[in-house]
Amino acid sequence: MDLGLKGKSAIVCAASKGLGRACATALAREGVSVVMTARNAATLEQAAAEIRAATGAKVTPVAGDITTEAGRAAALAACPAPDILVNNAGGPPPGDFLGFDHDDWIRALESNMLTPLALIRAVLDGMCARRFGRIVNITSAAVKSPIATLGLSNGARAGLTGAVAGLARQVAKHNVTINNLLPGPFLTDRLRANSAEAAAKAGRSVDDMIAERAKSSPAGRVGDPAEFGEACAFLCAASSGFIVGQNLLLDGGAFNATMA
Ligand code: NAP
Repeated sequence: MDLGLKGKSAIVCAASKGLGRACATALAREGVSVVMTARNAATLEQAAAEIRAATGAKVTPVAGDITTEAGRAAALAACPAPDILVNNAGGPPPGDFLGFDHDDWIRALESNMLTPLALIRAVLDGMCARRFGRIVNITSAAVKSPIATLGLSNGARAGLTGAVAGLARQVAKHNVTINNLLPGPFLTDRLRANSAEAAAKAGRSVDDMIAERAKSSPAGRVGDPAEFGEACAFLCAASSGFIVGQNLLLDGGAFNATMA
């Protein structure tokens, strides 16, 4: 299926690894020129070189912390008028609700709500004027089904979801879409890190914990980041302009509902 994205440009945030990298790869494969960001320059440059070699697309690494104004300015300087914006950043740390203080909440909001909103503010007018824009926010299955130890994530991502729900309906008439992708467990460094604490407590290996989680999923496995990237590219397709303000859960069926 040709997604009609050849010659388009994208900013993919937090993309040297995991889900962000998978989105950058899938878009590059469609002929999109990609600016990708992450904090660690060496890892980012390596990832960019690999994606370039695999796809032949123009891939520009921009090192920086996307949750800072300087990090966002650098990404926007490299791609001032993107056709596609994929919002992503590291997830907040797990912990006990009473252990989170004011600063923890501010950091979570900065990373997972205010940073995506700032980037959307920066690119939205241009997308509307050019009559093409695709914005995809990587949030979490925790938006639909809260994870007790990830209170910071549950709250900040729900805030972003609410903020863009109305905005998506305001800009759809300009062929600008805003949608959210909600990952369940995908096999990335983040999943391994989040499983490490439980594994240590249970005296078991991380691989063991992930295998147990996989068994409890209706799909019988955890997600492959490449599948996530393909879903992102589909939401960005030229023909996806009627998909507006959706929250697409990619969790192998774990969220048990007649309608998700
Ligand atoms: P990952 O494998 O740990 O990759 C995170 C990527 O983000 C890395 O490239 C990292 O590079 C970059 N990054 C982190 N903080 C950044 C920042 N402040 N500025 C720029 N780049 C930054 O994580 P992932 O599993 O792909 O997760 C992506 C998002 O999805 C996270 O918010 C996570 O909480 C959420 N999520 C993941 C899962 C899952 O199962 N994987 C499930 C639900 C939600 P640097 O460290 O070099 O910056």
